[in-house]
Amino acid sequence: MSDQPTPMMAQFLAIRAANPGALLFYRMGDFYEMFFEDALAASAALDIALTKRGTHLGEPIPMCGVPVHAAESYLLTLIRKGFRVAIAEQMEDPAEAKKRGSKSVVARDVVRLVTPGTLTEESLLEARRHNFLAAFASVRDDGALAWVDISTGEFRVMPCPLARLAPELARHAPRELLAVEGARLDDIAAEAGVALTELPPGSFDSAAASRRLSALFQVETLEGFGSFSRPELAAMGAIADYLDLTQKGRMPLLRAPVREAAGGAMQIDAATRRNLELTQALSGGREGSLLAAIDRSVTAAGARLLERRISAPSRDLGVIHARQAAVADLTDDPRLTSDLREALSRAPDMDRALSRLALERGGPRDLAAIRAGLTQGAAIAARLGDDSAQVLADAARDLTGHDALIDLLDDALVAEPPLLTRDGGFTAPGYDDDLDETRRLRDEGRGVIAGMQADYIAETGVISLKIKHNNVLGYFIETTSTHAERMLAMPERFIHRQTTANQIRFTTVELSELETRILNARDRALEIEREIFARLCRAVLDRAAQIGQAARALAEIDLTAAFADLATGAGWVRPTVDDSRAFVIEGGRHPVVERALRRKGEAFVANDCALTEAATPAIWLLTGPNMAGKSTFLRQNALIAILAQAGGFVPATRAHIGLVSQLFSRVGAADDLARGRSTFMVEMVETAAILNQADDHALVILDEIGRGTATWDGLSIAWAVMEHLHAKNRCRALFATHYHEMTSLSARLPGVENATVSVREWEGEVIFLHEVRKGAADRSYGVQVARLAGLPGSVVERAKEILHQLENGEGGGKQAALLDDLPLFRAAPPPVAAQPKGSAVEDRLLGVNPDTISAREALDLVYELRGLL
Ligand code: ADP
Repeated sequence: MSDQPTPMMAQFLAIRAANPGALLFYRMGDFYEMFFEDALAASAALDIALTKRGTHLGEPIPMCGVPVHAAESYLLTLIRKGFRVAIAEQMEDPAEAKKRGSKSVVARDVVRLVTPGTLTEESLLEARRHNFLAAFASVRDDGALAWVDISTGEFRVMPCPLARLAPELARHAPRELLAVEGARLDDIAAEAGVALTELPPGSFDSAAASRRLSALFQVETLEGFGSFSRPELAAMGAIADYLDLTQKGRMPLLRAPVREAAGGAMQIDAATRRNLELTQALSGGREGSLLAAIDRSVTAAGARLLERRISAPSRDLGVIHARQAAVADLTDDPRLTSDLREALSRAPDMDRALSRLALERGGPRDLAAIRAGLTQGAAIAARLGDDSAQVLADAARDLTGHDALIDLLDDALVAEPPLLTRDGGFTAPGYDDDLDETRRLRDEGRGVIAGMQADYIAETGVISLKIKHNNVLGYFIETTSTHAERMLAMPERFIHRQTTANQIRFTTVELSELETRILNARDRALEIEREIFARLCRAVLDRAAQIGQAARALAEIDLTAAFADLATGAGWVRPTVDDSRAFVIEGGRHPVVERALRRKGEAFVANDCALTEAATPAIWLLTGPNMAGKSTFLRQNALIAILAQAGGFVPATRAHIGLVSQLFSRVGAADDLARGRSTFMVEMVETAAILNQADDHALVILDEIGRGTATWDGLSIAWAVMEHLHAKNRCRALFATHYHEMTSLSARLPGVENATVSVREWEGEVIFLHEVRKGAADRSYGVQVARLAGLPGSVVERAKEILHQLENGEGGGKQAALLDDLPLFRAAPPPVAAQPKGSAVEDRLLGVNPDTISAREALDLVYELRGLL
């Protein structure tokens, strides 16, 4: 046995080496095959059979494969599991290769690299979400982030120092992040749940970037798009380079890059987004998020726009007011709103259809999608009057002027064209004379065959004789062996082709001639249709910019109508947004909690919030027992600010909001064992971020900060944080705590007011009223809540006793001493004393420094100690 690889294996290994870091899908006939490590990894990831094929260096070669027609679903699984896939296709007909000699291998090459950020197939994408590819570049201390959705052509860039990378990734939630080799962004990428792809420095060269981008957009200079910094150019250039690499030269249709100003949007960091469950619930899915509760859009593009607006509420009063005016226009005219939504629901996703056509991955159905989108668009534009609000009038303008293209597509395409061009049949009759004529020939031929069959039956007397067709023989006459005698007797007339178990097959000279005519006509028809398809694609792509504009207009109208529908249906109001520092909400509700309660048939209690405008800073200190509704109240106010600045109406009876520059939300977190950091560390790191960043237009929401540590530590930290917010940040804040002691702060700090969520006690039970009112809670009710939670009666009774003693004690620092006097604590034996000195447990414990171990290590330690007993 020789160690020389076969010619095919040699080709495989060469292609494999040229595409490191990706699984190689190697096309062999109707399958994509994988070999070696790729086969091991893919068979495990896809749960498909692993086989062997031949040997390499004396070892059997592991192999697995997926059928080409089902490849997309396998691709999706692989991409979701973090793989990249290089697709190597056969670049010639296998017959061609054979002509070159028996040893010749079919030419193959990688036509595309499939990565999480570069998907375009409908089946691989989520319709209602963007699929962003981002690139981060830094030049000395300056940084920039560029991002693109190649399935819609959206292309943007913004200045972004390294310190702001994490929050910006949280905002855009890209699927893939490009960075220069050695940039050490692994942690940031992992935290944001984005796949990191490192590229060589050449990809980020800002001078080369200008050239690449000018070529991509076919302009002499990029100046027409705005002036870009070097890191911005580098980031955009890296994206262009990567698209060239992954799409193998076929460039997607990108819109001109738009530069986003750094201060254009309300700043919301990753922790705040998670906490407020803006686009994803804490449980991971979309259900339970703000987005899911308020999304009434009827198009996928509208849903994507809503997600963008919620992720980046505006800070531009002009923009906010214009959007609100448009929503108000539609809430005033429910009839118009429902007409628009009806038309919108019939408008397909033009953005994604257009991008597939540009990448030569489109089909007739994508052309039909453009036709339907533009047709609905024209109807919508006609329905919107001239006196519409500016946002709607602008959109209507972008939806007009497409008549010539609509007419062309209408004339050329059948009503419901097939997905693929391959089999033809998408061109409408009457559009092309040549095609009509050829189709007639083809179809007539089929009619003639039916006649021929009847003639042959008459001639031979064999009633069961049939003319059939298959891909191997083409047309043939078939009869059962028992009836074949007559025909076998006329070998000149009926030419024998094949004998199977029960059948004998023949052909005749005239049948072969007819077959050739039919085949020729069919091939010719397909060829004409392919030309027509290419012509229609060109017509569409010539107007790509205008179609993209129309698609955006439809999304804007959809979002406006969705906001209006929500406002009307749920009784929301138009908030007053200005550049004051007011935060006055009357009758505010939490849209997600309210929806959940309504499903259970329960009512949500609306609450007011008034952070006094006169006072700078303006802070509410909210106390009240657990389960009273503190967190809900805090969050609802943050969500109302987001909705207001996203341009929508808000769940309240009245709202007056001074522009919020930054929004922060922190919760005294549950243990974060997964990340190996103690709860308390996470909480403090996050709190530090707020205290260091919040400006006087920020809105800060702190829920039970300090909970992650011992009582007195926690109280002192909460206290000091509050003082800092008041003295240094001077922002608007809502601060919920169960530390009653803090209520005395309001007497000392002029900007702090007490508020409480009231409860009523009735026959020893707590009744939650969920009403927020000014003033401090009189007591904590924790013990009663414990009973509700099902703690054993004896424990509740005992807790009451202790509480009673504590409340009647002298309070303050003496409480700790008081605890010592309680029989319960005295009664418990000191834990270590129970062990004989020098025990294994003791020794192990003495070797631990509690200050340096994480919560996870502590848990492991407990297990270990338990094992030592
Ligand atoms: P806390 O933060 O005070 O422990 P939560 O805000 O978590 O309390 O609220 C506990 C539960 O009370 C929520 O799950 C919700 O079902 C209910 N709740 C909270 N606020 C309201 C309200 N305003 N109206 C009706 N139910 C509410």
